Amino acid sequence: INKIAVFTSGGDAPGMNACIRAVVRTGIHFGCEMVGIKQGYQGMIDENFIPMNRHSVSNIMQLGGTILKTARCLEFRTEEGMEKAYQNLKKQGIQALVAIGGDGTFTGAERFSNKYDIPVVCVPGTIDNDLYGSDFTLGFDTATNTVIEAIDKIRDTAESHDRLFFIEVMGRDAGCIALRAGIAGGAEAIMLPEKDTAIEDLISTLEHGAANLKSSSIVIVAEGDKNGGAYNVAKRVKEKFDYYDTKVTILGHLQRGGSPSSFDRILGSRMGFAAVKALLAGQTRKMVGLHGNNIALTDLREALSGHEFKLEDDLMEMSSILA
Ligand code: ATP
Repeated sequence: INKIAVFTSGGDAPGMNACIRAVVRTGIHFGCEMVGIKQGYQGMIDENFIPMNRHSVSNIMQLGGTILKTARCLEFRTEEGMEKAYQNLKKQGIQALVAIGGDGTFTGAERFSNKYDIPVVCVPGTIDNDLYGSDFTLGFDTATNTVIEAIDKIRDTAESHDRLFFIEVMGRDAGCIALRAGIAGGAEAIMLPEKDTAIEDLISTLEHGAANLKSSSIVIVAEGDKNGGAYNVAKRVKEKFDYYDTKVTILGHLQRGGSPSSFDRILGSRMGFAAVKALLAGQTRKMVGLHGNNIALTDLREALSGHEFKLEDDLMEMSSILA
């Protein structure tokens, strides 16, 4: 292999740039020509290729988002779209791919490399931390820190006005951000997609806090909570519990952005480095992941095989005890 392309796909995540930098510089170190593909699979179809050298990735480590841009590409899901992408890669002489993205990106990579003779190694880049095969995904740490910062700020105003705040955070299927940010931010309650929390139970937690003269309360609601999000939860709580003035804050896309934490910069660098080394060692259809404090490879098929994602038992147990 002497020509490798790298791209980002699906939702952007802080740390993707650190990973792109590591991929490009590692490839060059080992004598490869490096190419960036803009806008993920869409760029393969539209021939949006850019040559990358050491300087193309200077000064990007600290930037959020992705310098290669990202996209969701419907055409790549079709046989014709994949064929077009393959012909374009062949024309460029690209012999291997590093794909940075979430499970949709991995599914596309698996299908593509099953069909065509282009090896692919994937890096898990998503703030949701919901992929099997890595203890942490790229961007999760930064997103959690962003949420904690927001909780701290909201706590100031909640405390000054004796208010109850419902803060909605990202996590449609996985409550990783909600659980960790909730614990680190000292939230009084955390509502997760993984756990059915009855409104009556939430109210009794809040009543207990009020009886103990808590002057403010913060409830973290993951967007995938089964009660239908922060506005619905707040409305239903308010009907029966009006001890506090109640407010709702939806953090939304600000959780995606920002300069990556040192953890995500290092993780992105390690994963990018490992992805190129894996390709050069003849690997394909693998995902790079963090296991304990070691980088390990998992078969894409295994990573995608629908293992049930599980939040840590101790975090689940302590979240209500420490609140
Ligand atoms: P995030 O977790 O942040 O949403 P993701 O990688 O899961 O990231 P998706 O939009 O699901 O984001 O997938 C990214 C792209 O991967 C899609 O836009 C599409 O181009 C490609 N893709 C997804 N599923 C398939 C598939 N079954 N076949 C081919 N390509 C696919």
